[in-house]
Amino acid sequence: MSKRDYYEVLGLERGASQREIKKAYRRLAMKYHPDRNPDDEEANAMFKEAKEAYEVLGDEEKRAAYDQFGHAGVDGQAGMGGGGFGGGGFGDIFGDIFGDIFGGGSRRRGPARGADLRYTLELDLEKAVHGTEEKIRVPTWVACGTCDGSGGRKGERPVACETCAGMGQVRMQQGFFTIQQTCPACGGSGSTVKNPCGSCHGQGRVQETKTLNVEIPPGVDTGDRIRLSGEGEAGPQGAPAGDLYVQVLVKEHPIFTRDGEDLHCDVPVSFVDAALGGELEVPTLEGKVKLKVPPETQSGKMFRLRGKGVKPVRGGPPGDLLCKVEVETPVNLNQEQKDLLRQFQESLEDGGKRHNPRRSSWFDGVKRFFENTG
Ligand SMILES: [Zn+2]
Ligand SMILES: [Zn+2]
Repeated sequence: MSKRDYYEVLGLERGASQREIKKAYRRLAMKYHPDRNPDDEEANAMFKEAKEAYEVLGDEEKRAAYDQFGHAGVDGQAGMGGGGFGGGGFGDIFGDIFGDIFGGGSRRRGPARGADLRYTLELDLEKAVHGTEEKIRVPTWVACGTCDGSGGRKGERPVACETCAGMGQVRMQQGFFTIQQTCPACGGSGSTVKNPCGSCHGQGRVQETKTLNVEIPPGVDTGDRIRLSGEGEAGPQGAPAGDLYVQVLVKEHPIFTRDGEDLHCDVPVSFVDAALGGELEVPTLEGKVKLKVPPETQSGKMFRLRGKGVKPVRGGPPGDLLCKVEVETPVNLNQEQKDLLRQFQESLEDGGKRHNPRRSSWFDGVKRFFENTG
């Protein structure tokens, strides 16, 4: 069967620009796409013909060969779908053309990419706040060293899978619907090898535990993820690798709890310091600082140390450190101390009302409550 001229197929002059070629192909592909013309043999043939023409004319190198030698210059490459053209193949062309039509490459086909991986990295609060470099070990798939990822013996390149014509997907008719499925013959890679490599059994990749250094920027918090492009699983038979997502999990800290950019801590204080006022030493992530507590400080009072919180990972001013004072009841008192406290108790004026106004008003409230109910 003699083939039609590729320019004629796309309805173009020989000197057409790449833009015109792409536009012509897009128009024909939209018109004859199998999804729009189910069970239409003729449309299917037109689609295939246009695709083949575009695969050659859309590639400057192949187009030059075609212009010089005609079909003989490119035979055995075109019309095979994917694998025939080195790395790129049908997947790239299809993705390129349809990416902007269907949006976001939702219909991308062709060689399956390696899977993305997720790794949960537990970090101390200090490391999360200041940033760090962590060594992690990830069990994953890496490109086979024996065959350089091709999957074939002695450097043999994979060829397009016959079952799916290199698309990695097959179309199945089910009632009125056509559904896409991962090709069972090639597992979605779109290609197969005739003589598989002994080390990887034709997969082009082997399982290995990879050691990676991960740069953790300062300010990360639980739930933040760091994407390491191309550090996921190697793709089958040289297909691109997936990405690795490092998920941060900040461990509990004995002193601080984090709330966004703010840090919280409890500061126990003696009732004498709370009553008379004093200077407390409080911890921050940068070391100790002095906190002045005024006289008559009540338990639960919050003191804010501006800028002593966390500098956010996405930029901006640092948060604050919020210190909550907790008055501690003294324990292990000796007789002398107990006597002093009793003396102190007796010295209270007006039955203590003047010195413990909260307790006094609370006590009055309780009294009224019982009067009303009784
Ligand atoms: Zn191998
Ligand atoms: Zn296949």
